[in-house]
Amino acid sequence: MNQRFADRMKDRNVAHDTRLLGDFAVIYCNGKHRGAAQAPLGSDGARLGVYRNVPVVCETCAELLAYAEKRRAFCAKHPKPFCTHCDTHCYKTAMREHMRDVMRYAGPRSMFHGYAIQGFRHLLASRAARKAAGATGAADNEG
Ligand SMILES: [Zn+2]
Repeated sequence: MNQRFADRMKDRNVAHDTRLLGDFAVIYCNGKHRGAAQAPLGSDGARLGVYRNVPVVCETCAELLAYAEKRRAFCAKHPKPFCTHCDTHCYKTAMREHMRDVMRYAGPRSMFHGYAIQGFRHLLASRAARKAAGATGAADNEG
């Protein structure tokens, strides 16, 4: 495993975001990929113990999570903006579309899974970003 990746995963925010994505992917995969063979995620992040509950997802979602872990770990922005508001498109197209689907599906549903606070924070940040974008054409939000 890449040492830099392991070091970055020790960052509280990186671990938190990664865990959140894992939970979102589980909600999405259970809703959308029912019938697909699901298995516990065997990614580097999972091996490092980043996830509180190791996500049990299908192969496609596992690929997305393994990819997302790396993108999150090596995100060059400090503080990281919400990906939707970021001007750097670091995801390749297929992964970006898959992630957008996950967010769209799991975001509202995550309210029922104890993520009301994150959802609320995201909403506030979205508003702030829209305001900032309107004023200066740039948005930089913590996320
Ligand atoms: Zn899936």
